[in-house]
Amino acid sequence: MRKLPRVLVVEDEPAIAELIAVNLRHNGFAPTVVFDGEAAQREVDSVLPDVVLLDWMLPGESGVALAKRWRQQERMKTVPLIMLTARTEESDKVQGLDAGADDYVTKPFSTQELLARIRAVLRRRAPEVVNDAVQLGELSLDAATYRVTLSGQELKVGPTEFKLLHYLMKHPERVHTRGSLLDRIWGDHVFIEERTVDVHVKRLRESLGAASAMIETVRGAGYRITAQPQAIKAKNDPTPA
Ligand code: CA
Repeated sequence: MRKLPRVLVVEDEPAIAELIAVNLRHNGFAPTVVFDGEAAQREVDSVLPDVVLLDWMLPGESGVALAKRWRQQERMKTVPLIMLTARTEESDKVQGLDAGADDYVTKPFSTQELLARIRAVLRRRAPEVVNDAVQLGELSLDAATYRVTLSGQELKVGPTEFKLLHYLMKHPERVHTRGSLLDRIWGDHVFIEERTVDVHVKRLRESLGAASAMIETVRGAGYRITAQPQAIKAKNDPTPA
């Protein structure tokens, strides 16, 4: 029998939680509903969900704080998180993504939109089950151990940036448009703006530190990763006398 994707719903408003759960059940998911962070932690400790819908405003620990904490836990580091938020401010969205959320849905949302987002994060997650290792110049990424190293030194890379880097490293030296990156990494870009890509590229460069120049912006086209960044090549190539 096919295993139904497990969705943990962390939502303190019973009416919304119930509505989400009913719709998930009707659409081939196995939802579990909890009302606060403490219960959510107990739940993920016992059964690992395939995706978490996490309300921003919860009694006690906030959804954002919980997301941040989970991203530090080995077990929860890569489980897709969708934040449910009543807020629409751009800064709040960025804060949610910063906390490690893969996506966010603003309340009130339609069931179809929510289902599309859940399917998208599950699709996006699929490439990760291929636990391979990639090397480009001094940069290595090991999907099995979830590690990125530069000249043997481990770098701290967030979950979305990790997926982005993984994809770029598997397709180096090629220019990827924002749209194609959204397709490949986010899975479904209907609801995500292209500048989301820029936010994550910026963050990825910060994580790469000394190797940040490996990610090049190709004006008017998109991004590419290269083993030999133009900036560094220019600096290292001796000018012929
Ligand atoms: Ca709430």
